[in-house]
Amino acid sequence: MKAVPIHTNWGEHKCFDAIIRCIDHRISGEEVAEALNEALDDQRKIVRADDITGAGVSLAVLKDEYWPLIRDEVRVAVEKHGVKRFLLLDHHDCGAYGGVDKFAGDLVAEREFHIAEMHKAKDKLLAFLMELDASDVEVLLFYWGEHQLEPVE
Ligand SMILES: [Zn+2]
Repeated sequence: MKAVPIHTNWGEHKCFDAIIRCIDHRISGEEVAEALNEALDDQRKIVRADDITGAGVSLAVLKDEYWPLIRDEVRVAVEKHGVKRFLLLDHHDCGAYGGVDKFAGDLVAEREFHIAEMHKAKDKLLAFLMELDASDVEVLLFYWGEHQLEPVE
């Protein structure tokens, strides 16, 4: 192995957004930010974003054993980086939830399950943001489906 040049922009650690996504390599950084920006439509676009990952996304927020890791990263994002918007996305065929097989290939049931989980995760995140005195921070939900990324109301 050897040292190689890198081209990181060290300019600014402050950022407006943080993306909360799965560790799954299929949901990778650059593609996610690009798709989210398209989905954001006429809303403020992502310029820089912290990246918070947890296996299962909503599962990592909701399960007691994973929550401390997510919680601490959310705290750093808000208190140190000034994040004002979290974008949380669950995804199709998430192994942490048993993949698409758990739903016997029923993509509608899978999507509905994840939407319900994301709403629970959002409630938990909003409660924690209140504790941090950061009730002005938004949490937006998105579902990374088999063929499209969609905003979840
Ligand atoms: Zn996953």
